[in-house]
Amino acid sequence: MNIYPWHQSNWKNLFFDVKRFSHGLILHGPSNSGINDFASIASKKLICTNSKGSESYCGDCQNCSWFDSQSHPDLFAINNSSLEETKSIVNIDLIRELKVFFELSSHQKNGKKVAVIYDAHQMNLAASNALLKILEEPPNDSVIILTTSGLSSLLPTIKSRSRLEAFHKPSYTEATNFLRTINKDNLSPYLQLHNGNPLALINDHENHPLLIEIIHCLKLGKKFNLSDINGQWFSNGLLWLINLLQKWSYDILLSKYTNQQHYFPSEESIINQLAKNSNASALLKFQKMLIDVKLYATSPVNKEINLDIIFIDYRKIFI
Ligand SMILES: [Zn+2]
Repeated sequence: MNIYPWHQSNWKNLFFDVKRFSHGLILHGPSNSGINDFASIASKKLICTNSKGSESYCGDCQNCSWFDSQSHPDLFAINNSSLEETKSIVNIDLIRELKVFFELSSHQKNGKKVAVIYDAHQMNLAASNALLKILEEPPNDSVIILTTSGLSSLLPTIKSRSRLEAFHKPSYTEATNFLRTINKDNLSPYLQLHNGNPLALINDHENHPLLIEIIHCLKLGKKFNLSDINGQWFSNGLLWLINLLQKWSYDILLSKYTNQQHYFPSEESIINQLAKNSNASALLKFQKMLIDVKLYATSPVNKEINLDIIFIDYRKIFI
């Protein structure tokens, strides 16, 4: 695994002088922008005894091989996605385990002990307070890396005892270049649907055939055929579909007033055409209806929603 191109400057910031590496490090930035991958590579680099200066890990030594088999005795990782669903919050028991981990000395002479808490905003208060205690008296040669997309949820006292490193999401050019280098440039037209985030786009790749099918039907505007709707459309849940319809109708509205598209730039000509044939007040009514359906869909009392009505209203947008 390599550092993503849009994280190169973060890598240089942190590893320019490893001696200045602090005990506590918080990597924060937008979700799904690759911060967790960065933290994983950084922890491997810190544990690899062959790595020098700002170089990455060597990949050949015993430490790297233990890391790869997730059995390195000097590495402690709390990965929220691997926790059981009933324990999806980082709780105090895990931080107690972390304390015990730091009490044992490193297996390597002069080696570091490294802990990574992924998505640290998922820590509950008791766990946060216990972590703070460890950060107040950090063991020698220990590094605790926290990753988060919710910096404001972390205790101010944890932040003040850590070095903060801000990450950004890739620019449009960085994102499209990245897709090209991994031979996925055919996905570039859908980049904006994932807020310009190529990693979220790649993670969602299994939905692209469905996306293309639905967009193909939406392009028909007034001629949208209700019999084309099928159960597959709801396979990701109603919210996924409503989000897609919101983005599609947003682009029609945007095109009507500015001749531009945000989410579907590759569908420029058809969206311009649909916008020309649309009625502004029906379009706004449709968008209001989508917001209402979204509220129903997320409310604890699940009201039955007549899905055909959504698409009947969609057809009414067009003259
Ligand atoms: Zn190594």
